[in-house]
Amino acid sequence: MGADLEHVLLTPDQIAERLDAMAAQIDEDYAGRELLLVGVLKGAVMVMADLSRRLHTPVTMDWMAVSSYGSGTKSSGVVRILKDLDTDLLGRDVLVVEDIVDSGLTLSWLVANLRSRKPASVEVAALLRKPESAKVDVDLAYVGFDIPSEFVVGYGLDYAERYRTLPFVGTLAKHVYTS
Ligand code: 5GP
Ligand code: MG
Ligand code: MG
Repeated sequence: MGADLEHVLLTPDQIAERLDAMAAQIDEDYAGRELLLVGVLKGAVMVMADLSRRLHTPVTMDWMAVSSYGSGTKSSGVVRILKDLDTDLLGRDVLVVEDIVDSGLTLSWLVANLRSRKPASVEVAALLRKPESAKVDVDLAYVGFDIPSEFVVGYGLDYAERYRTLPFVGTLAKHVYTS
């Protein structure tokens, strides 16, 4: 697997340090409240696990799976729910936990969908953001890292369902795409 990688963008230590800071900020912002963390399957499993365990704020956790219609790796903004939440959002403080925001189309649809369920609040925490790829403006309350518009894998992120378990975020070598 090592030969499949081009370079490491974020080391486990860099990720851990950033999650510490994000968790501290979230605890400060939600002091005295209880949070519903909504993880977006499957990419957000690692950030959900590692961010949630750093929080002192009482939390419950739920999961959604969505799929963007569209060709290949580009999302279209037309989103289908593959797995919905089990939790009623009415009056809840919701924090969406995302792996990466690329065009922002999926997330902006998701936030609008969640807001229609009458929660007290909806905010987003994303580990990664690609500012150069943004097609729509989504307000992210918490961002781990801004990264260049390259395709990355690891720490939950896949290429054809592989590489999710890598402890770091990295880019793939060209031969992985072309062979
Ligand atoms: P958006 O709607 O923001 O364009 O797409 C967001 C989704 O596309 C992410 O949740 C993720 O599943 C996928 N995605 C976007 N960029 C990357 C990337 O660099 N690597 C991987 N593995 N997935 C990505
Ligand atoms: Mg995602
Ligand atoms: Mg994927």
